[in-house]
Amino acid sequence: MKHTFDIAVFEGDGIGPEITQPTVEILQKLAGQSDAYELTFKDAPAGAAHYAKTGASLPEASMDIARQSDAILLSAMGLPNVRYDDGTEISPQIDLRKALVLFAGVRPVTIKAGQTTPLNLPAGREVDFVLIRESTEGLFHTQGRGEVTKDEARETLLITRDISEKLFKFAFDLAKTRKSTGRSPGKVTCVDKANVFRAFAFFREMFDAEAAKHPDIAADHAYVDATALWMVQKPWDFDVMVTENMFGDILSDLGAGLMGGLGLAPSADIGLDHAVFQPCHGSAPDIAGQNAANPMAMILSAAMMLDWLGLRYDNPVMVADGVRLREAVETVVAKGAILTRDLGGTASTTQAADAVWGALA
Ligand code: ATP
Ligand code: MG
Repeated sequence: MKHTFDIAVFEGDGIGPEITQPTVEILQKLAGQSDAYELTFKDAPAGAAHYAKTGASLPEASMDIARQSDAILLSAMGLPNVRYDDGTEISPQIDLRKALVLFAGVRPVTIKAGQTTPLNLPAGREVDFVLIRESTEGLFHTQGRGEVTKDEARETLLITRDISEKLFKFAFDLAKTRKSTGRSPGKVTCVDKANVFRAFAFFREMFDAEAAKHPDIAADHAYVDATALWMVQKPWDFDVMVTENMFGDILSDLGAGLMGGLGLAPSADIGLDHAVFQPCHGSAPDIAGQNAANPMAMILSAAMMLDWLGLRYDNPVMVADGVRLREAVETVVAKGAILTRDLGGTASTTQAADAVWGALA
């Protein structure tokens, strides 16, 4: 039986439309070849340019499209010269995360043979781990609402049982999936600062309680500072890492740096009922409109979407297509002949996306 999935598409600002269009085309062609699933796409206008035009950065109609969809594909939103009246940045992706309770920010970090990395990896070593960043609370809880007087400023770190329990369950389930596909030995590392903050001791306690339910998955702890060191010194040691919002924000940029830049870094923000798939990078207004942006991070995010939908709806063909798509990107990167400027090449967005499709077909 052919299952139809509705995908909400936020093509967003800056390079957004340029990287969204070829990504959606690839997905359409992939689904077109399959008897197992069908994809329909619905455009959801939102973002900084939309705000400048209409006064709404995330219109209710777009929110409805997102809510009613099976998955959400989002490129990037926000522009440096468009701000809300109070001067804050326009970032509807954060509103979306909050409204849909997307607590698990999933940031895979992979370094395959042939991929340029600032690390000096021992021969034959590849890196393949996933950082899970809690995305609704933590140190970003007071975002924009911290207390500031003339002499003092305070922000609050919020860790709740409700979100933490969901987060850790998600982390262990992901480790199980990775183990079952032979991708990893099955380990979850809780990254915190439990030696200094009681909130993180609480975080760790809930992690240990979840770990006890999964005897088949190894569990360990690491302080965030040591984790930054080990991500550089022995990144192959990690499998699934799970951490608080701001620590995750910082470590995921470190992860993107290890992968050779933002152009290859996909992500997902996942909750119990909804999920957004989007590249880690922003709207890159400096190169917008030039057909020069790297579409790979967006294409890899789409691969994560196929993976997630396939697992959720028990559709192995879709999972396999997700893997094929990821491997096609890896093939193009390893060959090194058709790369965009950010990866040291001269190819256009269109050429890079065509090369991915070529490696697939
Ligand atoms: P945000 O606050 O939205 O995360 P940012 O300030 O971190 O944005 P980005 O938009 O991510 O900035 O861009 C940072 C740099 O990386 C810019 O020079 C941009 O051109 C480059 N960049 C980002 N994404 C891509 C891409 N897909 N292809 C090529 N270059 C990119
Ligand atoms: Mg950024």
